[in-house]
Amino acid sequence: GGGIDSSVIKSIDKAVIHRICSGQVILDLPSAVKELVENSLDAAATSIEISLKEHGEEYVKVIDNGSGISPNNFQVLALKYHTSKIADFSDLHSITTFGFRGEALSSLCALCNLTIETRTRNEAVGTHLTFDHSGLVTAERKTARQVGTTVTVEKLFSTLPVRSKEFRRNIRREYGKLISLLNAYALIAKGVRLLCTNTTGKNLKSVVLQTQGSGSLKDNIINVFGLNTFQCLEPLTLCLSEGFKVEGFLSRPGHGSGRTLGDRQFFYVNGRPVDMPKVSKLINELYKCSNSKQYPIAIINFIIPTASYDVNVTPDKRKILFSDEGCLMLPLREAIEKIYSPHQCNYSINKIK
Ligand code: ADP
Ligand code: MG
Repeated sequence: GGGIDSSVIKSIDKAVIHRICSGQVILDLPSAVKELVENSLDAAATSIEISLKEHGEEYVKVIDNGSGISPNNFQVLALKYHTSKIADFSDLHSITTFGFRGEALSSLCALCNLTIETRTRNEAVGTHLTFDHSGLVTAERKTARQVGTTVTVEKLFSTLPVRSKEFRRNIRREYGKLISLLNAYALIAKGVRLLCTNTTGKNLKSVVLQTQGSGSLKDNIINVFGLNTFQCLEPLTLCLSEGFKVEGFLSRPGHGSGRTLGDRQFFYVNGRPVDMPKVSKLINELYKCSNSKQYPIAIINFIIPTASYDVNVTPDKRKILFSDEGCLMLPLREAIEKIYSPHQCNYSINKIK
């Protein structure tokens, strides 16, 4: 720019760095809500309510009945790289929580107005906290509430003018992506009642998603997609080797979900929703033999040792690096081939040759 002497290299102001980096951790409405829901799950909540105002454009509130946050953590709660989940690099090999980088709350503070209400079982009353954009507590007062935590994100991206405009312009699409993301958590979270509501206009509140908190994947699928859909699914269970298991459900041959690729495909590693383009491609390819017009539903959880993969690859932790991908993919292919009548497939492939 005109007034800047480009020959001088200087360090960027801390507050500026914070805002720049935060926009890369929290990309959109789904990634903001994902962080809050994951925090509630990490706090062992059995009930999580996601309450949206104007599809999330005005605010998102995530209300849980988890452990709560103890008062001695209030001051550092929303500071960058402050976490209660890991202390050492070696802890990453045995990570079982969704969060571990201590970035979400601090990033949200930099991008919007954040307030937290919380109470642990050691406190008689709750505390209401407000934060500034650098993550420092600006006000603290007592409030009546149950044990648990409520995080409110108001006017997301209001500190980034361009992103804010884009966010509001695309709010319906962001909302759609959010609902499918919440489905991913609703399906896999066992023993957690998940409720999502959206309030529009003066007071029109509608239930968007609701699960009963059952302990089984089967019941969760019925809650989310209905009994009819569940009845078109085939269980997939696979024991690969010591500590490696695959569990889930797949469309039966001939019973697809629709023409759009991947809109009902959910992959997990130890219950963490992730992207698995290779597995998705494999399933779609094998499924084609029985139904070439639709894509299969797939809900598949890889239960594998925490040291056999790395989730710390992208900010949203959706990309997974496996230490031995082949040992997962080959047996998986065989198991899926069994479901999608291999003889027919081989026959048609041979015929083409
Ligand atoms: P991370 O999840 O990586 O630790 P966050 O910025 O998401 O980082 O959260 C910071 C800390 O705040 C967490 O480590 C946890 O101790 C606390 N926390 C956040 N949300 C909740 C919640 N809903 N219930 C209990 N504790 C929470
Ligand atoms: Mg977190």
